[in-house]
Amino acid sequence: MPRNPLDSPLEHQQSLDDMRRKYRAERDKRLSVDRSDLLDLEGELAHYLDDPYLQAAARRPIRDDVDAVVVGAGFGGLLSGAYLRKAGVNRIRLIDRAGGVGGVWYWNRYPGAMCDVESYIYLPLLEEFGYIPSDKYALGADIRAHAEMIARRYRLDTDALLQTSVTGARWDEVLRRWEVSTDRGDVISTQFLVLANGALSKLKLPDLPGLETFQGHAFHTSRWDYSYTGGDARGDLTGLRDQVVGVVGTGASAVQCVPPLGRSAKHLYVFQRTPSTVAVRANRPTDPEWAQSLEPGWQYRRMVNFTTLVTGGHDDEDLVSDGWTDVYRDVLMSPKFAGLSPAEAAKAIEVADLAKMEGVRARVEQIVRDPATADALKPYYRYLCKRPAFHDEFLDAFNYPNVTLVDTQGKGLERVYEHGVVANGVKFDLDGLIFATGFEFGTLYTHRIGFDLVGRDGLKLSDKWSPGMVSLHGVTTHGFPNLLVLPGPGSQSSISVNLVHALWENAAHIGYIVRRTLEEGHRTFEVTEAAENEWVQTLLASVRDISAYLADCTPGRRNNEGRPADRSRQNVDYGKGPIAFYKLLREWRDEGSLAGITFGDLTRAKRTFARNIAPPASVGPYVKRRTGPHVKRGFRLAGKRCILCPHVRLLFGIGMPWQVVLTSAMSNARRLST
Ligand SMILES: Cc1cc2nc3c(=O)[nH]c(=O)nc-3n(C[C@H](O)[C@H](O)[C@H](O)COP(=O)(O)OP(=O)(O)OC[C@H]3O[C@@H](n4cnc5c(N)ncnc54)[C@H](O)[C@@H]3O)c2cc1C
Repeated sequence: MPRNPLDSPLEHQQSLDDMRRKYRAERDKRLSVDRSDLLDLEGELAHYLDDPYLQAAARRPIRDDVDAVVVGAGFGGLLSGAYLRKAGVNRIRLIDRAGGVGGVWYWNRYPGAMCDVESYIYLPLLEEFGYIPSDKYALGADIRAHAEMIARRYRLDTDALLQTSVTGARWDEVLRRWEVSTDRGDVISTQFLVLANGALSKLKLPDLPGLETFQGHAFHTSRWDYSYTGGDARGDLTGLRDQVVGVVGTGASAVQCVPPLGRSAKHLYVFQRTPSTVAVRANRPTDPEWAQSLEPGWQYRRMVNFTTLVTGGHDDEDLVSDGWTDVYRDVLMSPKFAGLSPAEAAKAIEVADLAKMEGVRARVEQIVRDPATADALKPYYRYLCKRPAFHDEFLDAFNYPNVTLVDTQGKGLERVYEHGVVANGVKFDLDGLIFATGFEFGTLYTHRIGFDLVGRDGLKLSDKWSPGMVSLHGVTTHGFPNLLVLPGPGSQSSISVNLVHALWENAAHIGYIVRRTLEEGHRTFEVTEAAENEWVQTLLASVRDISAYLADCTPGRRNNEGRPADRSRQNVDYGKGPIAFYKLLREWRDEGSLAGITFGDLTRAKRTFARNIAPPASVGPYVKRRTGPHVKRGFRLAGKRCILCPHVRLLFGIGMPWQVVLTSAMSNARRLST
């Protein structure tokens, strides 16, 4: 079995000073390049956003009145939907611009796509579903199938509005509800609004001159065009046999799709700006005996064990035991540094980091036969400056005779022309051009989600958050009642490398707030300004200053493309780490008073109105009828028999003129009549 160089001791001890100089030189080369600003994909470039997996189906605009709208049908939206159901929420509209559920796993179907965090902790609700993925790292298609199961189990698919983008949301202070609008002309009134738009859902292309002139097939990895490449997510891309293809980027998606592309294309050029760290993945089929031996509660325990180890915590066991826990546990955040002074610990960690990176570079040298290619694929920065990649075939793909690495020394492509691209002053004729260039990250929240929210008194979320986020726990914000936000990096919450762990904990938290609001008969909840300001102060006090570390990093997502200071200092995660954050949320819930949250009670006028609505003594045939998903309920209003039809928001009074009643009054009536 090949030796894992990451386990090897530092073989070529280089002085820290030499290596620091080398790292800085590599960083400076990249800093001096104008790192492309965001490109709006409009006009001639709008087709890059098209869904290649499903034709857009025409439908009529919908007007609806529901209990909750969840924007985004990835794991964040699905888990939120599941917890809203558990909280007793009835009518939920899940909205996604994708044609199905799964979020990133709907969109990212490139060959070789799979999770890089172990599937047993990445796929949520495994115990509840009695499902064990077939491999330690599951294929994207299997992950998507699991997401579809969650949607079915929690009936989130029935009323879902797919192929639909949310374009705006406005708080109506009279009705005390959100009005959500979409690009299909829908207008949906909802009591609760959950934003689960995803941290990596807005694809990014480099702002290259001539991009629109390319005449061949061009697409982003999150919109894979199998009608051109042939094959499927397992590879065998038969359409590429006579095609010269270029892949732009060597980040996480490229690391996964380069091997199948290399095996299929006539020739593959891989255009690199900065190499990734690519360590051992060691994927393997699930051992059935191990799966049989799992005891109740195993998944949560495993998830917590992993998150603990990869955030500097201690646990006697390493249940996942993979490249992630190896790096964090033994080297970067090892408790063995705990007794040292800050300066000694920093030095010890730097030495350990260097040893680890030497191992990564040694692995490149060991696998890639051409010395110049191997040299270019060696990353020179500290291990966590970029999200590490794990793969067992990526490096070997550069030994294929038809695969060429084009290293641009941090500069990237120069331009695109009709028949190819220019890099390092050389023209490369291409039939296909695949952008593995990732996703918009760390930009203003409302820019990333693609719409603005207008809260109470016309306050826009973009205005409120443009100087920096203000929230309680990253979940709720003052002036935007009944709005609940799922976490991403730097969103005043806490995440770690297993993003699903964070989404799950936060979805449970959201479910709790909604359940309490409903149980106590309130129509609205809202965080106070004092509570959210206090949370911001708590966050700022908890954050360790890593600005020097980030400034030394090669430009990337982590340090805002080399401009860490341009990011608001408030847009941070809880500094004591995710495990401490989840404990803090749990304690907040256990304490029970919903500290910092106020409820919107019924006004006097509405109470009087409500008192006139006596719940029916018995439920007779006229009183409760089911018409499709919409339940009609009967009750008395001012002595008259009435039927409430939530779907059309009308109150039908028998023996009295038709009445259209304000939604706010209706929801009181509905609540009291159930
Ligand atoms: C290829 C790939 C592999 C990954 N692998 C891992 C991994 O192994 N481990 C890990 O922890 N993380 C991984 N991630 C990160 C991933 O983002 C999270 O794990 C998780 O899936 C995010 O779920 P989400 O629900 O927050 O967002 P998403 O899955 O991105 O879902 C958000 C959804 O919201 C929709 N949406 C956004 N805006 C709108 C709008 N205005 N209107 C309508 N719909 C909208 C999008 O279409 C999208 O479907 C990976 C990401 C990618 C891209």
